Amino acid sequence: MKTKILVFITLLIILLSGCTTHAIKEDDINKTVNTFLNFTCIKPILEFAYPTPELTLKNGNNLIQYSSKGNLTYKSLAKSTLIYKINNTPSEEYIEINSESDSTTIEFDNVPDKITERIYKDNKLIKVSDVKNDALRMPSHEGLYRIELECFWEKEDSESLEGELIYSFDFYYNMPSKFKISSDSLQPGSNIIIHAENIKDSDTINVNTTLFNNTIEFYPEPYGYFAIIPIDGALTPMDYSITIESSEDNVKFEDTVTVLEREYETQHLYISSSTLSLRSQENIEKNIETLTNSRDINNSSKTILWFEPFIVPSEGIITTEYYQIRYTNGNPTPRFHTGIDIAAPYNTPILATNSGKVVVAEEMTLTGNTLVIDHGCGFFSTYCHLNTMYFEPGENINRGNILGLMGSTGFSTGPHLHFEIFYNGVYLDPEFFYDKDPYRDSLIIK
Ligand SMILES: [Zn+2]
Repeated sequence: MKTKILVFITLLIILLSGCTTHAIKEDDINKTVNTFLNFTCIKPILEFAYPTPELTLKNGNNLIQYSSKGNLTYKSLAKSTLIYKINNTPSEEYIEINSESDSTTIEFDNVPDKITERIYKDNKLIKVSDVKNDALRMPSHEGLYRIELECFWEKEDSESLEGELIYSFDFYYNMPSKFKISSDSLQPGSNIIIHAENIKDSDTINVNTTLFNNTIEFYPEPYGYFAIIPIDGALTPMDYSITIESSEDNVKFEDTVTVLEREYETQHLYISSSTLSLRSQENIEKNIETLTNSRDINNSSKTILWFEPFIVPSEGIITTEYYQIRYTNGNPTPRFHTGIDIAAPYNTPILATNSGKVVVAEEMTLTGNTLVIDHGCGFFSTYCHLNTMYFEPGENINRGNILGLMGSTGFSTGPHLHFEIFYNGVYLDPEFFYDKDPYRDSLIIK
């Protein structure tokens, strides 16, 4: 009731002062309060005889001011790109705040006794805290947010303000790009993961490194993007440079990555001439072409299809290691073994090393019955020389599913599984994947 009386008095003053404004009802006052651009007072239960307390928000040189006159004003104390956008679509109404300083503070001309801050992202409450020392808690990542400041004033005497107000505003929080790499010391045959945070849609990330020649693909993750750099088994052990830059701001990440020394065993293999006759140039090319096309990074799922660490695909004895140097029938030109050979009796079950989608299940001249699984984001696993295959291309597969049975089809001297992990043109060492999740493990590092 008291509020109504005060409203009435305010109206009376407006009318008496010769203002020609149409009669204002209490509803109109609420509306007026609510049209403060992005700063809206949700609960205008303050006594209207007092001007609405003025709020100023500061971050570095940015200063945003809510004034009792119903204007949102902003001042930039230095050259900055601070902007606010106003239009009729609520989702596009936001202020852009640059994180020029770690601390964002608020100031009131009439200081509340208590302030509770709530941060929302996509209409979901993500943080609640009491404001202490006028410092606001800001989000830890770039994006569009809403902050609500619930302010309480307790009545101390007849002159003081009493009530509760919620100041609410949407803002785009601009943060500088941030880059991380999962490791700076690596074994040949392993991989590095790059994480890029606070990247805008219009941004281009440029990676410059001598570690890898192909295009580096970035995939979205919750707060930015990630990319994988495969380390070829034959890479010379030495220091390699890596620089990562974003086009939108001038953030530049520079580091040195050490590729460690690794020795590979030499193997001499003798194969009967009938088996060797399979190894015609034409057959080799056809087999390679099928595998190259099916394991093209551009054909891989754009999201990770696995959720757990990789597993060993078969029981048995390792007969040929990754990158073992192989001389066949005394030929002076060696070949590097592109995977791991696991030998066990015929019809030993072959398991999917991780979840994904079958992209090849085909009989081929050299690799025999061959199955390829796309694990997403460019990762493929390949299983060769199977006796029987249980899956067709296009089928989804779970980690541990029995793909087929061990055999000796194609260019093979006895029952074994030739198993490969392939990423963007590079054969990686499967041993580095067992019991590991290269993506999720990289989130914990550093
Ligand atoms: Zn092999």
